[in-house]
Amino acid sequence: MSALANPQRTLKCPPDIRSALAVLTCAVVAACHVATAQAAAPFAKTQATGFYRMMVGDIEVTALNDGIVPLPVDKLLSNVSPADISSSLARIYLGVPVDTSFNGFLVNTGSKLVLIDTGAGTLMDPGTGRLVTNLPAAGYQPEEVDEIYITHMHLDHVGGLTLNSQRVFSNATVRAAKTEGDYWLSPAKMAAAPNDARTAFQNAMNSLDPYVKAGKFYPFEGDITLVSGVRALGTHGHTPGHTSCRRESGQKAGHPRRLDPGQLLDPHPPSCPQGARVDPLSGAISETKDHRTRTE
Ligand SMILES: [Zn+2]
Repeated sequence: MSALANPQRTLKCPPDIRSALAVLTCAVVAACHVATAQAAAPFAKTQATGFYRMMVGDIEVTALNDGIVPLPVDKLLSNVSPADISSSLARIYLGVPVDTSFNGFLVNTGSKLVLIDTGAGTLMDPGTGRLVTNLPAAGYQPEEVDEIYITHMHLDHVGGLTLNSQRVFSNATVRAAKTEGDYWLSPAKMAAAPNDARTAFQNAMNSLDPYVKAGKFYPFEGDITLVSGVRALGTHGHTPGHTSCRRESGQKAGHPRRLDPGQLLDPHPPSCPQGARVDPLSGAISETKDHRTRTE
């Protein structure tokens, strides 16, 4: 009986022959793949999952990307000439606009799951709002988040709190500086603001209101320990109650925005993102353009 007539016998061939057959099989399969690679393939139109994880002391920090926005830094920064912006960008091979990453931070203290900022949700550029989908990709569900710390109430930090007027993080309490809430959640302050600034108030109110109504919003005052290992640090100026979160061992895990060419290489000339008309020291609201903001 030949081997072809009895397939069982082919299983008994020596290992070197089986290896040779395997190589031949792989070669045939590879050839087929080469052939199919010539055909038109659909565009994937998706990016790799956006998170990066590291230990900071004994807590785990996961940076969750919310998206990337082409930032018109020449319009965003005041009191800096377009020529200075262009030359600074050119030194690091960039131009206007600058693709800018927006991120939140998930902190696992070992006993609490804390989210620092929530991304833009549906309030901003279509390229943002991905933090909530990157969270499960990083291994956690929104309902597992115990506490949310809001560094400040601009839309790219609070927009992810709410979807269709419902709390995205159903079991979380939200915390932010009292001065921040007193400003952005105040109908009186919104009424007194310039017309072009009122949308920012409305965005903050829409994002926070479901948590306020559910008794889930707990503002804090001063630099306090929010949870073991994470301490609030007042960095007022960008907004009245802007707060950074500091790892109590001294390492920062805070505000993600970077505007290196325009702000960080030369942070001394007064330059301020639009809509932030506040005194850097007192947090008082000011209409003057001669102001500066702390770099973030
Ligand atoms: Zn901001």
